[in-house]
Amino acid sequence: MKRGVQAIVLTAVTALASAAMAADPPACPPSPPFEKPVRLSLCAFSDRDMAYVGTPRQQALCLMPEGDLGHFRPRRTLGAPLDGLVGEPAALDLDKLAALLEADGVVFPPDAMKTGLSHAWGGKPYGPPARYFVIHDTSSALSRPYFPPDDDPALNRLGEQYCGGGGYMAHTFINRLGKVLVAYDYSTPWRATKFEHINPWRKGLFLHNELTQPRLPRRGETLTDASLTPDPAFTEAQYRSLALLYAAASARAGHWLVPAFHSAIDYAWADGHDDPRDFDLGKFDDALADILRQAGASR
Ligand SMILES: [Zn+2]
Repeated sequence: MKRGVQAIVLTAVTALASAAMAADPPACPPSPPFEKPVRLSLCAFSDRDMAYVGTPRQQALCLMPEGDLGHFRPRRTLGAPLDGLVGEPAALDLDKLAALLEADGVVFPPDAMKTGLSHAWGGKPYGPPARYFVIHDTSSALSRPYFPPDDDPALNRLGEQYCGGGGYMAHTFINRLGKVLVAYDYSTPWRATKFEHINPWRKGLFLHNELTQPRLPRRGETLTDASLTPDPAFTEAQYRSLALLYAAASARAGHWLVPAFHSAIDYAWADGHDDPRDFDLGKFDDALADILRQAGASR
């Protein structure tokens, strides 16, 4: 989350300053030295295999933990239908899925659904293809003392970028209304976690998806570490769009990818991320079940 808040603040500062001084945008603040992990990862990862340890389902149980940051524990179940899907062949009717994506306003590049996913080893074509569908939230810390309605325009910008022309912060962005921006197709190797930054060979193994979420600081918190989320933390439209993207990525992989939380991947860092905060896996399961009813294919 912290990175997300920082980026939004920086974007706002950049926009204001750019308006005043269009020819001379302000420089980005110097990047702090890259921190080292301070504890063991939550889930064991093998760089040799370019995969977390265990079956795909076991990996998902660990990578979508329960509990608050610092007190994570692996889940016992992913719920239905996810429990029976992860790692299994993605039996989907591609024409029906394409129609659902179009109806939802998801625009991938032409022929993207016939294209494979990005490859690890920094995008080398012989690196293993992407295995992990990572869920983030782009937290907006609010200067207002209340949560605005979900259709507030200020809340529904899409496409947060790194300061200084570093590109978009994820492959896809989903705002509170469920509208999707595909910033980079899933065939593009991209990285958005510290875990990937410390080893460039991991780049391309993860597909990154950001959900817009407003935050308010609890007592004693600053805007930077605000942790209070609205209720519900994410909208039905966001779960629907996220499930569609997960189905599309899995169809391209040929099997259901391992879903993962950013917070689990970067657990080893002291100021690790807490996103997607208050994600409701049951609602994601429900959205996925709808898509299977509408675009599932018999095996
Ligand atoms: Zn994140």
